[in-house]
Amino acid sequence: MDSPSFPEVESSNSEGSGLNTPNTSSSAGTSSSGSAPSRYENQKRRDWNTFLQYLKNHRPPLSLSRCSGAHVLEFLRYLDQFGKTKVHTPICPFYGHPNPPAPCPCPLRQAWGSLDALIGRLRAAYEENGGKPETNPFGARAVRLYLREVRDLQSKARGVSYEKKKRKRPPPPAGAAPDQPPSPGEG
Ligand SMILES: [Zn+2]
Repeated sequence: MDSPSFPEVESSNSEGSGLNTPNTSSSAGTSSSGSAPSRYENQKRRDWNTFLQYLKNHRPPLSLSRCSGAHVLEFLRYLDQFGKTKVHTPICPFYGHPNPPAPCPCPLRQAWGSLDALIGRLRAAYEENGGKPETNPFGARAVRLYLREVRDLQSKARGVSYEKKKRKRPPPPAGAAPDQPPSPGEG
């Protein structure tokens, strides 16, 4: 008995043919229906364009297909100049203070949370734009290690914890003690 040979079914992923429904709704007064792109999708597209622009301006020129995790790290460091998060250096007196009482000359960086989210979006965008998961530079081990390092560094420098907060917040005391009046001074 011959084993039947199955024809290889290629699941053609015909993309680009979005539902192009003409506006034939007779009911007047309806605003543009259809799902508007979410904030995440918008942000993802903007991030992707930013990255493509970065590649375009790269010297020497760099194509997406030759982009590696090292280039992604380069990109992240490049973004630091636009950061707005003060990251104290270990010699700063405010090192480890979440709310420093005075300004200091420490550099501004991209917050770890922003970078982490950014990489997530770019990673998705890369594959949505035809990139293969196994060559996705945003999923590179070096990138993951770098993000972990940044998280560690910033949590120490800023005195904040990035650990997932457990539901451990104690309820506020019901009968909180009223503010104590200042002790009367000598009159
Ligand atoms: Zn500082």
